[in-house]
Amino acid sequence: MTASRKPIVGGNWKMNTNTESGTALARAVADVFPDIAGADHAVEAFVCPPFPFLAQVGEVLQAAGGGIALAAQDIYHEPSGAFTGEVSAAMLKDVGCTAVLLGHSERRHVIGESDELINKKTHAALEAGLTAVLCIGETLDQREAGKTDAVNKHQLTKGLEGVSTDQMADVVIAYEPVWAIGTGKTASAEDAQAAHAAIREVLANLYDQKTADATRIQYGGSCKPSNAAELFAQPDIDGGLIGGAALKAGDFLDILRAAAASGA
Ligand code: PEP
Repeated sequence: MTASRKPIVGGNWKMNTNTESGTALARAVADVFPDIAGADHAVEAFVCPPFPFLAQVGEVLQAAGGGIALAAQDIYHEPSGAFTGEVSAAMLKDVGCTAVLLGHSERRHVIGESDELINKKTHAALEAGLTAVLCIGETLDQREAGKTDAVNKHQLTKGLEGVSTDQMADVVIAYEPVWAIGTGKTASAEDAQAAHAAIREVLANLYDQKTADATRIQYGGSCKPSNAAELFAQPDIDGGLIGGAALKAGDFLDILRAAAASGA
């Protein structure tokens, strides 16, 4: 983390929690967050509850002062109409979301989303004024074949196609090696830093150095209190996208503390 980029940490609750446990988790985190962020707002945070709990979790976050942003796990790119099961950008804004995940590895590899669809969703999010958290990352086979940087470059180039330099101010990249998500295996700090530096270089080539230097790149993949500080200390790692550890208030708060300390 460099001092010029504020660390950002997101909690991706995936298909977990219910009304009671989701609101309790949000309250436990939101009540303590202001002390961690401090007067200088040393870290930004968002949580991504499942769609049915967005409104109620949003109310809890607002009641605690609104320091933690409400985000969704996905979006559909069409504004309205006959798209059964889907949720539009306007609907997310209506319930108070300010950010959304795009192209999470589970959407790519379990649900089968293509780069083209993810790009459409990225545009829909940005046009609606949502922060777009574009998730990228290689599978184990791709890593073992030495294709990590090529996969990241491909997913970035396709995912950001048509996104302007100005719009990049509302884009966060989440580098999440697929083999590290939910497996307990974490990329070493050195491997993660190398991937992040290569991602920043791709951004510099797609846009310019200033844009690349300003874009936050989160690490995701079995990030937990015991490894967060080392990961966030790397110069190109600007916080994290957290799955399993975001479901335990104490662990998520410890990760937020590590992120706040990394920007100091
Ligand atoms: C994620 O879902 O984005 C993630 C990183 O999950 P986990 O922390 O559980 O690996």
